[in-house]
Amino acid sequence: MQTEWDIVVIGSGNAAMSAAIAGREQGRSVLVIEKAGPDLAGGNTAYTAGAMRFVYDGADDLVPLLEDPTDPRLPHTDFGAYPAERFAADLLGFNDGRPLSREQRTLIAESYDAVRWLASRGVKFEPIYSRQSFEKDGRHVFWGGLTLATRGEGHGLAEAERAAFAGLGGEIRYDCAAEDLIVEDGRVRGVRTSAGAIRARAVVLGCGGFEANAAMRAEFIGPGWEEAKVRGTPHNQGDGLAMAFRLGARRHGFYGGCHATPMDLFTPPYGNLDLPHLERKHYRKICYFLGVMLNADGERFVDEGRDFRNYTYAQFGRAIMEQPGHVAWQIFDASVDPLLYSEYRFHDAHFVEADTLDALIDRLDGLTDKAQARATIAAFNDAVDESVPFDPTVKDGRGTRGLALPKSNWARRIETGPFKAYPVTGGITFTYGGVEVDEDGAVLHESGTPIPGLYACGEMVGGVFFNGYPGGSGLTSGVVFGRRAGNGAARAA
Ligand SMILES: Cc1cc2nc3c(=O)[nH]c(=O)nc-3n(C[C@H](O)[C@H](O)[C@H](O)COP(=O)(O)OP(=O)(O)OC[C@H]3O[C@@H](n4cnc5c(N)ncnc54)[C@H](O)[C@@H]3O)c2cc1C
Repeated sequence: MQTEWDIVVIGSGNAAMSAAIAGREQGRSVLVIEKAGPDLAGGNTAYTAGAMRFVYDGADDLVPLLEDPTDPRLPHTDFGAYPAERFAADLLGFNDGRPLSREQRTLIAESYDAVRWLASRGVKFEPIYSRQSFEKDGRHVFWGGLTLATRGEGHGLAEAERAAFAGLGGEIRYDCAAEDLIVEDGRVRGVRTSAGAIRARAVVLGCGGFEANAAMRAEFIGPGWEEAKVRGTPHNQGDGLAMAFRLGARRHGFYGGCHATPMDLFTPPYGNLDLPHLERKHYRKICYFLGVMLNADGERFVDEGRDFRNYTYAQFGRAIMEQPGHVAWQIFDASVDPLLYSEYRFHDAHFVEADTLDALIDRLDGLTDKAQARATIAAFNDAVDESVPFDPTVKDGRGTRGLALPKSNWARRIETGPFKAYPVTGGITFTYGGVEVDEDGAVLHESGTPIPGLYACGEMVGGVFFNGYPGGSGLTSGVVFGRRAGNGAARAA
């Protein structure tokens, strides 16, 4: 068995595998070690929908990436364009006044090249017709700047990356958890793992954030977060951050921030490992923009139609976590039922149904102020501006008038039975705080200089996201910073 490698990559998610493939492309020997067994290979990446956000200029940029460029829907599809300025504006919208960070500028600039590179390594893409487009005048109209996902979603992406790595002669060791870094003469020279020490000339940390670590969530994000459901792998416990900090790495980014999404209240505590991979996302509940969300006091607490759900779903999980009991109800009438995504028809979707709103509210266990709930919906219905046509392909401006907390788009009266209420909580997806890396992906020490031999990528890189997240950016960020770390480690090795 080989005992010394040019590069050891910790983790087998999208970021780590991008680093590993890049390292092999440079001719270096690369070993990937993964804490999980083969069943949970690919970490959070394997749970994703595979949606990737990147800069493009119309269909001509997209068609070369597609698995099936002869799809008969393509001539009837409007993909629009997603220029760098829009990606920048989308990220800035969540920066709370901060200018674009260095990491964000890199993400935008390298986003299209990153997906083209993935495609060149055998990853295939398909348009996300079911969730990112609506039919309008006989055409498929995409909205929100997010158009493609990897074939077979995140599971397909992780499989394709493993195949690409294996094709380049790379090796993966499962059930092998990194525990500490080996340092000699001020340089990282390998990893101590649950399966013994492994020597290397460079080490890439691609082992995720701290979303699955209840104590770290409570410490950094805030009290109550120890109770959050975890949408993905149980293995992202902040191990890589702890190892880097022991070597004096600089903390970077927004540690109080995280991506958290409305989820079925009865979601299992971790990412639904018992389900087939394509069903693992089905506890998510993100069609709130078609109805209203009430908390246990019977009050609305967010503008459900503030923006396309790509730009709100990662914050509204947090908003629910801040409500009494970390719970809310998404309420819909029959008129929007056909528009609800398939996750609302999932065999284990929990909801209450009734012919009248009164009966529905009576049946909501845990909703303590039922009179207020009735008053909230009545006031909402009275405030809907019905003069504006409903159009889910654009921000239609069909809002409420006169409410202290408006619904800005897609407002429809909740008046046609039967009515449904889905109880939801917040599920954490990933954390935003991490380490700082330089242009080569090298981890920076508190002093501002790179820690020799240590690289990082993916969720571990801080400074990419602050108080929110435009959907589909995490995977792209993983490829952008993964490639950098792999190339940087290859040069160092
Ligand atoms: C349900 C869900 C849906 C999502 N959908 C999307 C989407 O459609 N588009 C998008 O862009 N993003 C999406 N995301 C976010 C996306 O998953 C992340 O941004 C991205 O996958 C993170 O990649 P990563 O490689 O940094 O981490 P991961 O993919 O989580 O990989 C980290 C790996 O490190 C391993 N590991 C941890 N500790 C150790 C250790 N000590 N030793 C060895 N290995 C270790 C873990 O087991 C894991 O395999 C979604 C996330 C979830 C949970």
